Amino acid sequence: MAHDPEEIAALVSRSLEDAGLRPAEEFVLRFPHELSGGQRQRVSIAAALALEPDFIVADEPVSMLDVSIRTEILQLMMDLREKRGLTYLFITHDLSLAWILADRLAVMYLGKIVEQGTAEQVISRPKHPYTQALISVVPSPDPRHLAKRTILKGERPDAVNIPSGCRFHPRCPLAFEKCGWSADEVADELRSLSAGGLLPEIAGIQVQNPGTVAIGIVPGMTPGSAAANLRRVASENRDSRLALKGIADIRENGDAIRVTLQAWEEPVLVELEPGNAVACHLVTPPAESVPTVTA
Ligand code: SF4
Repeated sequence: MAHDPEEIAALVSRSLEDAGLRPAEEFVLRFPHELSGGQRQRVSIAAALALEPDFIVADEPVSMLDVSIRTEILQLMMDLREKRGLTYLFITHDLSLAWILADRLAVMYLGKIVEQGTAEQVISRPKHPYTQALISVVPSPDPRHLAKRTILKGERPDAVNIPSGCRFHPRCPLAFEKCGWSADEVADELRSLSAGGLLPEIAGIQVQNPGTVAIGIVPGMTPGSAAANLRRVASENRDSRLALKGIADIRENGDAIRVTLQAWEEPVLVELEPGNAVACHLVTPPAESVPTVTA
């Protein structure tokens, strides 16, 4: 780092000019309100360059810019990458941008990487349901390209209340038994079925503990027939109400019914091919090759 005032002035000038603010003397004393949006973004880039970095974290660097200025800033960043040998960690919600810019991509959901690989691996052959949904809604300029769009249901959960198991499971169109259904989710779905009149024998539904839901029976009903109806209704609705897949067992428990939930675990990143890893229970690692033994 430079300490001498002249060295610092030269470094600032060089950084401004490399960021496209030329001549530097014209810009060095300007206030922010004297700069356009694109120029302010160039000043941010110049500030990063003044530290003479090898690695820059760029968090949504062009998301607030007009399309025309966006192209200029991206081109500048790419030119600087070549000129200064920089590496960027580029954070974006724009997958088409990631496809153009990145050598490697990591797709994150609620703070965790769910898929990573080269841009080709992730964009052309996405394997995680979240990545597949994101890519399905990227507009195509080809009107003949009629890809099926996957619109995710519901809101992204609160980051301070991360869902159990796979954190994507409440919105995943492919979620199944071991994805992490909680007793609250199962109880909510059962209450909804009960409110719809499909479970007339049921008087009340209560979460007993993280793995069990207790169900009270209307007086005069037999727990055996109530449990049988509950099993039938849960089985018939599990494809449209995915939380019902979280039910492992339904059985009488004295005058009530006990619903036991499936065991679950959080998926971890599994490497499928060199450099390409996915965190989803639907994805299985390639079988280990067995070494050939010769006599
Ligand atoms: S583990 Fe896979 S299938 Fe299950 S919820 Fe997560 S992304 Fe969906």
